[in-house]
Amino acid sequence: MSQKTALVCGAGGFIGGHLVKRLKAEGFWVRGVDLKFNEHAETQADDFAIGDLREQDFVRRVVDRPFDEVYQLAADMGGAGYIFTGENDANVMHNSATINLNVLEECRKRNIRRVFYSSSACMYPEHNQLDPDNPNCAEDSAYPANPDSEYGWEKLFSERLYLAYNRNHGMQCRVARYHNIFGPEGTWDGGREKAPAAMCRKVALAEDGGSIEVWGDGQQTRSFLYVDECVEGTVRLLRSEFEGPVNIGSEEMVTINDLAGMVIGISGRDVAIENIPGPLGVRGRNSDNRLIRKMLGWEPSYPLRDGIKITYDWISTQIDRKHNIRRAS
Ligand code: NAD
Repeated sequence: MSQKTALVCGAGGFIGGHLVKRLKAEGFWVRGVDLKFNEHAETQADDFAIGDLREQDFVRRVVDRPFDEVYQLAADMGGAGYIFTGENDANVMHNSATINLNVLEECRKRNIRRVFYSSSACMYPEHNQLDPDNPNCAEDSAYPANPDSEYGWEKLFSERLYLAYNRNHGMQCRVARYHNIFGPEGTWDGGREKAPAAMCRKVALAEDGGSIEVWGDGQQTRSFLYVDECVEGTVRLLRSEFEGPVNIGSEEMVTINDLAGMVIGISGRDVAIENIPGPLGVRGRNSDNRLIRKMLGWEPSYPLRDGIKITYDWISTQIDRKHNIRRAS
């Protein structure tokens, strides 16, 4: 049997980097594509094309064979500080939509059928996520649509784009809605990092007896999914007969202050929480895993605390390294 081939768009990113490792472990020949290499780990891809997926010519060059599996994860994105301030709205919409239009069309031309698209829980309507104790993120609650960010609107548009290609071009695209993925080898500083990584960094850098700043009143709720489980769900969905959209997330909902408390507990340090105003997003969000359980017979099960421990240890090591480099230079 010939070796299976996969294309991972966004392979220089956090989830893409982990996905490449997984596909390599399964014996695939993998091409990664991104604007940049992953800054935290050497890529395991057999071939890595650096370039801009907004450029049609570049996309044509990298989609040069009938890949068995294509994973489209490239997007202009970041944490709340990037998505919710409004300053990046035009870029977020233009860049991500252009990438999706280009990649999907080139896949169609090459007769590639299995294409995975990573949407986000940010596309769920804001009005269903006002109660922190009882957010509604069932897949069929998506319409009438009312995401709280342009990032969410672009995801919604692109979900529909992939499913329209299934309907009109006989493709077998699969759409997942990721809920707050975290883990090692992700962005942990610079403004695009998400809450778990930001908290691990703040706690690791805090003075003993000091405090860390947490945005909002800390009572907003979220769930967070460890990256290995995200990759598992991604691969399972693409190879299934269910097109989605389906949530890939954890149902272990916590308040943001609980999350901060968990990180502090894991660190063993004497650090307090100080709640300050900041960009927030919706009041409550949790994954609803009824549909994935039903359609894939699988759902994530790794405890949040175990994933946070691995992530905290990794970020602490990165901070030590950075400081040692500074001291040495
Ligand atoms: P990431 O930012 O680490 O990875 C995205 C990658 O896309 C980056 O490496 C970036 O350089 C690349 N990219 C952006 N524009 C590009 C372009 N024009 N050409 C080529 N590459 C380009 O993000 P991630 O956390 O790995 O997320 C992957 C996907 O999952 C994204 O589509 C994101 O919207 C979605 N998602 C992620 C989360 C999460 O919590 N991480 C949640 C919901 C949805």
